[in-house]
Amino acid sequence: MNSDTINHMAAAIRAAILAHEADIESLDREIGDGDHYINMKRGCEAIATISAELAPLSAADALNKIGMKLLSTIGGASGPLFASFFMSMGKILKTTETATIQDIALAFESGVQAIMQRGKAQAGEKTMLDVLIPVADTFKQLAGQDKPAKEIATILKTVASEGLESTRNLLATKGRASGLGERAIGHLDAGAKSCEVMIHAVCDQIL
Ligand code: ADP
Ligand code: MG
Ligand code: MG
Repeated sequence: MNSDTINHMAAAIRAAILAHEADIESLDREIGDGDHYINMKRGCEAIATISAELAPLSAADALNKIGMKLLSTIGGASGPLFASFFMSMGKILKTTETATIQDIALAFESGVQAIMQRGKAQAGEKTMLDVLIPVADTFKQLAGQDKPAKEIATILKTVASEGLESTRNLLATKGRASGLGERAIGHLDAGAKSCEVMIHAVCDQIL
């Protein structure tokens, strides 16, 4: 993995987020404050504007810079959470010369743990973590078994979609929807949706 790969993945993520405007926007309108799509779009545009600055960097430094950029541009609950994900991924990858798929899986897991720490949240609270935690666990397990990248990508897409669907019947105990009680039941979480969209976009680049 190098900064070219990262710029390429960032462009795929941006295209996928823009293509899912209607879903992402309506979910945060139903049980949030309606700004999640705008926040995601702002983050994606900000990363696109620094692609030339990312190009000469190592993968680890590029991920760290992406995290810092997101921290200063997204805002809301999701900004600092995504920022800590990328900064933590960068920190873990810093220790490796050329990252193997196992290294990437471990870095992804540490990114998800950083979100859990920052947001003081676990699985089952109707947030982005209901997608990210099962994806991180499965990724680590499959990478450890030396499965081919394409096989891993196919499975992770399914796991992400199942994680998203699992948020539908959960009560929200973190974030804005936590004040809604039973009213949140029946709705998917917006942050889980954008994570599903981003994971699909990245996996589709590998398939
Ligand atoms: P805000 O809620 O401040 O308007 P966004 O709309 O951008 O911010 O992001 C909302 C999303 O952030 C939620 O749908 C949820 O997935 C995620 N989220 C909110 N709080 C937390 C938390 N404590 N831990 C993990 N994810 C969270
Ligand atoms: Mg919101
Ligand atoms: Mg908001």
